Amino acid sequence: MDNIIKNLINGNNRYQWEIFQENEKIELNHTIPKFPLLILTCMNPRIDVHRIFQLKPGDAFVLRNAGNQYTEDVLRSILIAVHEYNVKYILVMGHLDCGMKKVHLDKLRTKLSPQVLLQIGQSSVNYQFAIQRFFKTFVDEIKNISNQVDRLKMTKGIPSDIKFIGMLYDPSTGWIFLENEFRKYSSHGNFMHGYQKLLRQKRMAHIDFLETIESEIVGKESLDPGDIIEKSGTVEILDEVIKENENIKLKTEFRSEKEHSELQQILEKNAEVIEKSMNIVSNIQIPKIYIPKIRVRVPKVNIYRKEE
Ligand SMILES: [Zn+2]
Repeated sequence: MDNIIKNLINGNNRYQWEIFQENEKIELNHTIPKFPLLILTCMNPRIDVHRIFQLKPGDAFVLRNAGNQYTEDVLRSILIAVHEYNVKYILVMGHLDCGMKKVHLDKLRTKLSPQVLLQIGQSSVNYQFAIQRFFKTFVDEIKNISNQVDRLKMTKGIPSDIKFIGMLYDPSTGWIFLENEFRKYSSHGNFMHGYQKLLRQKRMAHIDFLETIESEIVGKESLDPGDIIEKSGTVEILDEVIKENENIKLKTEFRSEKEHSELQQILEKNAEVIEKSMNIVSNIQIPKIYIPKIRVRVPKVNIYRKEE
């Protein structure tokens, strides 16, 4: 059998084994979808919608295509979801580094068969426009999300009580950004310029979130160290912040006074994150045996002072 198919069948066998061991559960008791939610996202294989939001099978409708585009077929599915399944929230989730802004239409055109070219509209006056309109490529993934949300909002025939939400996913960090966090940036370039600042805000908010699930974390009885560390999340934040500090230290020497003071601010903000994280880590009461693993990393965290 073809290796690709064999891998899939093996994967399904593993899944059955996980069900047998009760690590996976097939939920049939609630109406579908469990939440009145439809998510339109890109086909990019790095996006695992259910994992990102910790959803379960049956929780939400998911539509995918190249570039999370609003199309006639997307409208078809949305209308079914809205009228037949009582969906009230439509989420358009784009992502950073989307392949749809890297497609070279001229090169792609040479690979297409005459039949496809004819279908796209070779006879059109403006062929370039016709091919772009067919593939729906774009130059800015952040603007694209807002455009798709706006187009959905303007579509006649979608009931007025439906809420449209735009989100941006970063496959390299796993963070989700809400529309109010990225829409103020006029372009992808501007967004990336403010990205580190946004990430710091995310980390601070995440630590506040961890406080709300402290009982879950403290109640964890597993003695598997990897499991505890993965569940706590705080340790990962510490790691990230510490890595950022290390990078700043490495790069600071050749920077101007202004850049230096900006970096100094980042280090000071990180120090706040670290202090807060350490409080949480101590509240988590990770069994003593694992504490050295965390503390070993702490001495690396010193606010860098420029040597004169
Ligand atoms: Zn994409």
